[in-house]
Amino acid sequence: MKLKRIFPMMLMLASAAQAQTSPDGQLKAIVECENGKPTYTVMLGEDAMICKSPLGLVTSVGNFSEDLKLVETSAVKEVSETYTLKSSKQSIISYKANEQTYSFANKDGQKAFDLVMHVDNSNVAFKYIVYPQKDRLSALVEKEQTSFTMPEGTTTFLCPQMTPQTGFARTAPSYETYYEYDAKMGSNGHGRGFTFPALFRVGDKGWVMISETNIGGNYCGSRIEYTSENTYSIAYPEESEFGGVGSSAPGIMLPGDTPWRTITIGRTLKPIAETTIQWDLVKPQYEAKYDYKYGRSAWSWIIRMDASCNYDEQKEYVDFAAEMGWEYLLVDAWWDTNIGYDRIAELSKYAAGKGVGLFLWYNSNGYWNDAMQGPKGKMHRMITRRQEMAWMQKAGIKGIKVDFVGSDKQQTMQMYEDILADANEYGIMVIFHGCTLQRGWERMYPNFVSCEAVRASENLAFGQYDNDIEAKCGTIHPILRNAVGNMDFGGSALNKRYSKGNDRGTTRKTSDVYALATAVLFQTPVQNFAVAPNNLTDAPDWAIEFMKNVPTTWDEVRFIDGFPGKYLIMARRTGDKWYLAAINAEEMPKTINLHLDMFPVGQELNVYNMNAKKVVKQNKKQTMKVTIPSNGGLLIY
Ligand code: CA
Repeated sequence: MKLKRIFPMMLMLASAAQAQTSPDGQLKAIVECENGKPTYTVMLGEDAMICKSPLGLVTSVGNFSEDLKLVETSAVKEVSETYTLKSSKQSIISYKANEQTYSFANKDGQKAFDLVMHVDNSNVAFKYIVYPQKDRLSALVEKEQTSFTMPEGTTTFLCPQMTPQTGFARTAPSYETYYEYDAKMGSNGHGRGFTFPALFRVGDKGWVMISETNIGGNYCGSRIEYTSENTYSIAYPEESEFGGVGSSAPGIMLPGDTPWRTITIGRTLKPIAETTIQWDLVKPQYEAKYDYKYGRSAWSWIIRMDASCNYDEQKEYVDFAAEMGWEYLLVDAWWDTNIGYDRIAELSKYAAGKGVGLFLWYNSNGYWNDAMQGPKGKMHRMITRRQEMAWMQKAGIKGIKVDFVGSDKQQTMQMYEDILADANEYGIMVIFHGCTLQRGWERMYPNFVSCEAVRASENLAFGQYDNDIEAKCGTIHPILRNAVGNMDFGGSALNKRYSKGNDRGTTRKTSDVYALATAVLFQTPVQNFAVAPNNLTDAPDWAIEFMKNVPTTWDEVRFIDGFPGKYLIMARRTGDKWYLAAINAEEMPKTINLHLDMFPVGQELNVYNMNAKKVVKQNKKQTMKVTIPSNGGLLIY
């Protein structure tokens, strides 16, 4: 009797561990089912980067986190795809991964879910496909057991989730808190975990970034919560988000799949900064109806605030954009009342005559917060939204910036998707601000430009503290926030002070070269730069010259060196032209010997460094010794 009971269990244990490796054999995922509970482990070489961690789901049609059996493991399938993506950090992307599917059944032998796992040379990604249960063809996913147990001694670079219904006019959560740098595990942020993307340093073994992708109206966005014993678990939105409207649990069809959980792993930060996994695992949801053009945009609000939303100052900014050779002007809040629809159409026509297109700001609201800025009540319902967009198309408006959304619920994600899909019908590009993090959207929605989902430049205008730590924050965003997609930061201010007269307001601590370097480091295809008309006369000529010519779309990104919170060196390529950009947030100047193999011997290099520009001929060794000042930058192209 005893033997009978133990023997089948041992057999199950012995047969349960299934390993799958990356094409280069370095990365390995191990899936097991022990005592009815599914787990996975991720190894890089001999090192565990994710320790044995729970898998599984609790749904309205069954608890698929216990009493399970791993009943079948598919053969390994090679996945290979090459695709183009013009709007982000790499234009031609080749994805090669090994795919394996693990089928789990419940205790009655009925199929519960498949775990589909991809392992490529720097990413492990997996999703669940949940199967119909008896006559049930849909389910609410109440909880996901998926967790990430980090090795002992791991430190964290995490952004705490904001408390719902707090912040300006109850618009939170919107990914706008400060990162904790190299912090010990164990905290749970502000009591509700952390937002994606989440970065971990596994001692001297390497780095791990956790995120998710392929989420539109099909699911909610998630975050991670520290549960116990070095473990972070997937958590769904809170009930109070989005004004309490909509379910916190996502609904799916059956059979139906959950989003991909993505784990990007490297010995250095290079695979993380350069990853494309968020697009490798999604497909375009519709075709671009128009040819969307990206570019640089002037933006009065960041320096002159609400008071600048009047016809005369916006016209001044149109002229400024034209003088800079920039493609766009973003007209911010209150234009509906302070300028009016007819005069915006007039401004649009005037701007078009100068080669400048307009983006218009919109309040997403709605019925879920108290944000009062107009125009509002236009974007959240299809009928008003489409009427508005038809007017925009007639008036030649090129894009919108939709603000104050603030939730990751499935209902909210559906609204983002609906705004994007409708905007495509009218040739409108879309920036979201005060919002969630995009999850694959650059590829899913061809007229999507960017999300904010970062503590962005507005905070430099609002308070001095953000200026005091500006460079520190600058060293993490290009590695982490930009790793998973375009970021609407709105930076590169050349004003010394955040005010129209450049004489009042918060004081910028970073150098002009820093501002230029972040124009390359902070990536989004439509850059709302904080450069102001007064900078034509009060900023250095070399700074203006650079900002006139800086590209906003890139063919390649290369991480060179850096440590989040301290310093960063990266390079981006457009066509055959490389731009190397570096910033230093440490208190002391940083001297580095750069090996610049992207620039051929003899090339005349423009070097912006100690508050000046010089031209240096690339030497035979392709090396350069440079010192980056504290709060300063370096730019070579
Ligand atoms: Ca914001």
